[in-house]
Amino acid sequence: MDFSFVSGNPALDLAATVGSRRDKPVDTLLTPADLERWVADCHELPDHVTVDAPALGTTVSLREAIYQLALDRVLDRPFDPASVEIVNNAAAGPALTIRLSDTGVHMSGDMTAVLSHIARAGIAVLADSRACLKECGRTGCTRIYLDRSRGARRTWCGMEECGNRVKAAAYRARKRASADG
Ligand SMILES: [Zn+2]
Repeated sequence: MDFSFVSGNPALDLAATVGSRRDKPVDTLLTPADLERWVADCHELPDHVTVDAPALGTTVSLREAIYQLALDRVLDRPFDPASVEIVNNAAAGPALTIRLSDTGVHMSGDMTAVLSHIARAGIAVLADSRACLKECGRTGCTRIYLDRSRGARRTWCGMEECGNRVKAAAYRARKRASADG
């Protein structure tokens, strides 16, 4: 299964590795290998990182804290203090090493540095009062994304992920209705 990175922020993308949170949660990070693949697929993170079971546990705890805080932002309520502490602790970790070259940026570091990077990115967006955080409009998606569009008019986390599915379902419903009528 492919991971998707459409939330506009790596912390929000991590939170979205659980889908359908309110109905039947689908967790796509079940093993350390899943997490290694997710990190490699995320272009803001190193290409290679080694993950063991405790690191997966720490990541899941950070992920749930980020989701909780993003939801607090969407619902315009105070941050959950326990989640704030988890994110702050992760952000206090070492930074990734970033090197510029003619082929672009090369990033390296261990999983602690990766989580620190994700936590810092999460803090930046959660603390930005002008950042427009939204939950995807497709029923059951529950992904929270950063809407950077002009006038903040986006409805879906991603066109491919959800927008086209909703439009196709609406088209089928219209066809059914006209066939019945
Ligand atoms: Zn969606």
